[in-house]
Amino acid sequence: MKWINHVFIAGAVTAVYDVRLVPPTIIGATAPDWMEWVLKFVGRPVKHRTVTHYLSVWVIAWVGALFLFPDGLVGTLVTAFCWGGVTHILTDAMTVSGVPLSPYSDRRFHLFGGRFRTGEPVEYGISACVVFVCVGLMNLMPSGSWAPFFYDWAGYYESGVIDGYEWRVNRFRIF
Ligand SMILES: [Zn+2]
Repeated sequence: MKWINHVFIAGAVTAVYDVRLVPPTIIGATAPDWMEWVLKFVGRPVKHRTVTHYLSVWVIAWVGALFLFPDGLVGTLVTAFCWGGVTHILTDAMTVSGVPLSPYSDRRFHLFGGRFRTGEPVEYGISACVVFVCVGLMNLMPSGSWAPFFYDWAGYYESGVIDGYEWRVNRFRIF
């Protein structure tokens, strides 16, 4: 799958939960691919979608991070990063070549039958659908929980945080 779609899918799903976690998640959502460049750079080249794309390793890292770091900034960042990696592997798994399950088997894992090749239009369709559904979900959430992206100006005015002038200036601003 293309990076842009990895980024959109991981970003949208994570924004529903907490927009602040989007940046570390996006770094993780591209990690399985850029880790291949890093390995090449340090003289340990690996084949595409092998060592850095084990489904089991990313899932274990993410679940492990969830339990090992219940809170705290570093733990939250590591957990979000690993979660991003999981989304990368799951979305790569929808493609024809799939992803490897674990270092101990040759089996490749496919999600939804692995129907398309990287870069095909359907990939953009999937990412657009995910973004659409996630924006819908964010709208269902109580206002304020997604404030960093969409400021609740009218709500601020009512609660006296800003005055009438600021409200009039900003009421049509969504970003
Ligand atoms: Zn990949």
